[in-house]
Amino acid sequence: MCGIVAYIGKKQALPIIINGLKKLEYRGYDSAGVAVVSESGIAIRKKAGKVADLERLLAVNGFDKTSTVGFGHTRWATHGEPNDLNAHPIYDDDQEIIVIHNGIIENYNSLKIRLEREGYIFRTETDTECLVHLIRSHFKNTDNFETSVRLALNEVEGAYGICVLCKSEPGKIIAARNGSPLVLGVGEKEFILASDATAIIPHTRQVVYLLDGEMVTVTCDNFSIKTIGDEKIERALEEITFDLEQIEKGGYEHFMHKEICEQPESIMNTLRGRIRKDNGLVKLGGLTNVVDKLAFAKRIIITACGTAWHAGLVGEYMIEQMCRIPVEVEYASEFRYRDPIVYPGDSMFVISQSGETADTRAALKEAKKRGADVYGIVNVVGSTIARETDAGIYTHAGPEIGVASTKAFTSQLTGLALISLLIAQHKSLMPPNEIKKITDELLRIPDKIKMILDQSDKIKEIAKVFKFCQHMLYLGRGYNFPVALEGALKLKEISYIHAEGYPAAEMKHGPIALIDANMPVIVIAPKDSTYDKIISNIREVKARKGVVISISDEHNTDIDEYSDYSIKIPSTCKFLSPILTTIPLQLFAYNLAVLRGCNVDQPRNLAKSVTVE
Ligand code: GLU
Repeated sequence: MCGIVAYIGKKQALPIIINGLKKLEYRGYDSAGVAVVSESGIAIRKKAGKVADLERLLAVNGFDKTSTVGFGHTRWATHGEPNDLNAHPIYDDDQEIIVIHNGIIENYNSLKIRLEREGYIFRTETDTECLVHLIRSHFKNTDNFETSVRLALNEVEGAYGICVLCKSEPGKIIAARNGSPLVLGVGEKEFILASDATAIIPHTRQVVYLLDGEMVTVTCDNFSIKTIGDEKIERALEEITFDLEQIEKGGYEHFMHKEICEQPESIMNTLRGRIRKDNGLVKLGGLTNVVDKLAFAKRIIITACGTAWHAGLVGEYMIEQMCRIPVEVEYASEFRYRDPIVYPGDSMFVISQSGETADTRAALKEAKKRGADVYGIVNVVGSTIARETDAGIYTHAGPEIGVASTKAFTSQLTGLALISLLIAQHKSLMPPNEIKKITDELLRIPDKIKMILDQSDKIKEIAKVFKFCQHMLYLGRGYNFPVALEGALKLKEISYIHAEGYPAAEMKHGPIALIDANMPVIVIAPKDSTYDKIISNIREVKARKGVVISISDEHNTDIDEYSDYSIKIPSTCKFLSPILTTIPLQLFAYNLAVLRGCNVDQPRNLAKSVTVE
């Protein structure tokens, strides 16, 4: 995820681009860059850091400030560390083709191999660079900028919102999208392209929303839209009626709600390019060199904090069942203080959204000191943990701004499912058709999440009933025990209601004493092998007048008899169940917190990334 802004018109482009980037910085903020058309070619500056760092660079080194055509990018790295070199714009050695890109090119590796064979030299570690050389290679053959972009996009798989400049045709910007947003603002003899309308509104409220598979060629007088299949498109202008704040949050009241609703997309981004199209098997570039070692590990340690620790618990179930390797899950903060037994060659996974969590870093260091190989499951590319681990995967969930983690969690679960499948497939523990069944199901998860999100109003109505409650119990079994913990944590974090998560069968060993008519109990009860047992637990709650909110499969009606409120979600296989069951719990906590007037994006006493011990 990143922010793109481009300007072409009569005014000075640079201030418009920089102000636009500042508005888009919430979308990505690890590096930034600009390119403007100048008399002597195209001037480019880029830098790791915030837009303000780029601004300082531009101020000191005589950059052409008079240009009326150019674009800028604020990056959220997915491929290649966030350093000066990998910052966008990305360009070829002759600075003929200059590209800014938001998204992930899935087939960049095969394109790169082909283009390198043709003599193109790659200078950055980004997936974006294959687009540059691909367009350049078509430009050499066709000598036509627009045709070259179109032909290149026909060879690309994945998600992109791009803007392209060409030194030989400098009065033109070509933009295109597929899966990443791009809006064209239409003013009086001026046009602004941006990832969202925040950068456009200061200049015009007339916009054209590009659709997937469309490209637009913009000059300072006009624009024309085509599909990448070369069909002309006529599209009427639309008027933006909402305000800036609303757009930043995508029209949502809070980042947390936006991020909950983004999960179909963020999970798709975690999966992107990692399931082979030909046979449904898993490939994880970041673990290719270590999968053999992992497959034959005597045990795997997973360490993390908070929500990521809950993801680790689900990972334990997945890896033990699919890969038959014993797993230990440790709180990172406990691990290093208890003189842990780590043998040289042991394998450890550390999970962290930010990649900066101080306790997790310390556990990582401790494990390495004792000779373990440490692998990361991290969202932020180039973060400290990503750099300090021996290998790993990025979850690509995009920036998470709400303090209570939502989309980062489901992407961690998705990443853990991919890792487990990769190891199982490497050990031939599951036949390829079994793996394919699960990866097919993984690809269906985003649509299933959409079906749960469609029930937001119903979940909000249920939340209203519990607005004044003071305690709540969450129960789940097997794969959904960690989800019970996570559901309770979400509620505590943002609504300040005391909540506890328990394995359902443990209730009778203590918490059952708390149950009376004032104790709401959320029971996660998908129809799996423990379903009958969990129904017995529900009956135990009901027998003590507890109030039951159940979460079960969409066609399961018999649970209604035992539930005061029931939420139905699409069925899935047991390994992936937590990715779905957690969604209604996020919505429930979110709605309850909002009803209680809490600041859900910045709950009291909490910080997004805990970089202190
Ligand atoms: N995949 C590209 C990169 O890592 C673009 C990332 C973005 O959307 O900011 O450079």
